[in-house]
Amino acid sequence: MTSYPMSPLMGQMMSQPLLISSIIEFAARHYGGTEIVSRRVEGDLHRYTYRDCHQRSRRMAHALGGLGVAMGERVATLAWNGYRHMELYYAVSGSGLVLHTLNPRLHPEQIAYIVNHAEDQVLFFDLTFLPIIEAISAHCKTVKAFVLMADRERMPQETKIAKLLCYEDLIASSSDDYAWPVFDENSAASLCYTSGTTGNPKGALYSHRSTVLHAYGSAMPNALNVSSRDTVLPVVPMFHVNAWGLPYSVLLSGAKMVYPGAALDGKSLYELFESERVTFSAGVPTVWLGLVNHALQNDLKFSTFRRTVIGGSACPPAMMDTFIDKLGVEVIHAWGMTEMSPLGTAGVLQSKHLDLPVEAQRKVLQKQGHCVYGVDMKIVDDAGVELEWDGSTYGHLLVKGPWVISGYYKNEGGDVLQDGWFPTGDVATIDPDGYMQITDRSKDVIKSGGEWIGTIDIESIAMAHPAVLQAACIGVAHPKWAERPLLLVVRRPGHEVAAAALLDFFEGKIAKWWTPDDVVFIEALPLGGTGKIQKNKLREQFKDYKLPTV
Ligand code: ADP
Repeated sequence: MTSYPMSPLMGQMMSQPLLISSIIEFAARHYGGTEIVSRRVEGDLHRYTYRDCHQRSRRMAHALGGLGVAMGERVATLAWNGYRHMELYYAVSGSGLVLHTLNPRLHPEQIAYIVNHAEDQVLFFDLTFLPIIEAISAHCKTVKAFVLMADRERMPQETKIAKLLCYEDLIASSSDDYAWPVFDENSAASLCYTSGTTGNPKGALYSHRSTVLHAYGSAMPNALNVSSRDTVLPVVPMFHVNAWGLPYSVLLSGAKMVYPGAALDGKSLYELFESERVTFSAGVPTVWLGLVNHALQNDLKFSTFRRTVIGGSACPPAMMDTFIDKLGVEVIHAWGMTEMSPLGTAGVLQSKHLDLPVEAQRKVLQKQGHCVYGVDMKIVDDAGVELEWDGSTYGHLLVKGPWVISGYYKNEGGDVLQDGWFPTGDVATIDPDGYMQITDRSKDVIKSGGEWIGTIDIESIAMAHPAVLQAACIGVAHPKWAERPLLLVVRRPGHEVAAAALLDFFEGKIAKWWTPDDVVFIEALPLGGTGKIQKNKLREQFKDYKLPTV
């Protein structure tokens, strides 16, 4: 860790480390009666308050001490978004242990690999994931105890799991007479592995300081703008970069929290949004498809839902238009990465944009957005020379800030920084007002005749066609141009469109040589553990595809 020179005159303010426990303490003390509502895997709705959550977190912290886990050791969770998962967010990190959220959508072998890599000591899991734990428990070498996040009644009669404990028993048998320990704010607090869309998963190890600062920064009006007047439903899972920090930022804002559990289909989400009067939500574009389609097909409107953050992959402009124009929901397009806790940029208008025509405003909102204070960014060419912020020059995007990693857990991948900046692997433009737009991931960019073709633009245009539900563009080998774009399309049910008509749709919307060479209609796109399209799989599947030669 870098240390800095001290001034001969130091400030005379209280020295108080930025610790995660201070967030739940604050919420319980100042918004104690505010509700947390969770749809449980048991099927019912559970409700209690921040005060209750704080009490149960302290009991669980006590219980963890009893399990013999030492400060800095890792405690894993394999769980949906719900109140018990949130209790663990605070019980684990707050007591000086490290919360390691596992992604249940990964292959069980990959989960076991990550558990062993992290050397997890205890593994908490939801009832849904009992089969996964039964399959992998014998391979998890460091895990001393597995804890089923349920009450005694739901515990299996027989199990292959060697040391299986019951969550509610641990809570019931532990005292809440527990004072959160105070320690250095740079201590590790939680561990998230990258979803491995590109390459092997690597761990980002957040500190208490980085988490608290990220929670402050992401709650600000130019970012997610969370306040005590909001009711927040994180659709983004708590195992995907800590639900983008919402289990922290919502609490320090005093907002009501609503957790959807495993029921992420359009109908269940819609009902929960309405019954709990949700005002604000967050998720990746693919999960919104279900909710949007359900609302449109049934001609439903939202009575309270007014704002959503969409990020994790590019928000198709057609989806943004539907949210704003048809459903009355404002969209904040955000960009970030596991390596950035995750928030880097958020797209909101400035006062200079307010008098612009709607279409021009939409162009601003479609970009990935403006830096949130705490993050700095730049674009550079292949030689590392900084490029201009003119909105059209694109280059490799680099970032830095107190919630950006300085290296991966266990130093996987070695030194990752370039002159103190973290290379994101994204290619982007930045305009004179500081709005960044992702052209592509550097691994997905199509190199055609020595020039780059960004696939996000192509996909956005395709998805504006009424017959297109989802689209992904990949580079396929071409004898003359090295690579050319191939468009893969999932048609909207009940709609027809031919390849030629879809290609005509690109006319005038994009440079002619960016237009895909062909379209293939497929049943479904492969999605990774965090709901992103796995282009590496598509590239593999279509690697021998013969493009028409003209
Ligand atoms: P992984 O890198 O394993 O997929 P992350 O969830 O950390 O896991 O993904 C970060 C990447 O997701 C970014 O580098 C970027 O390529 C992509 N991404 C995130 N948000 C956006 C967005 N709004 N638009 C386009 N791409 C995005």
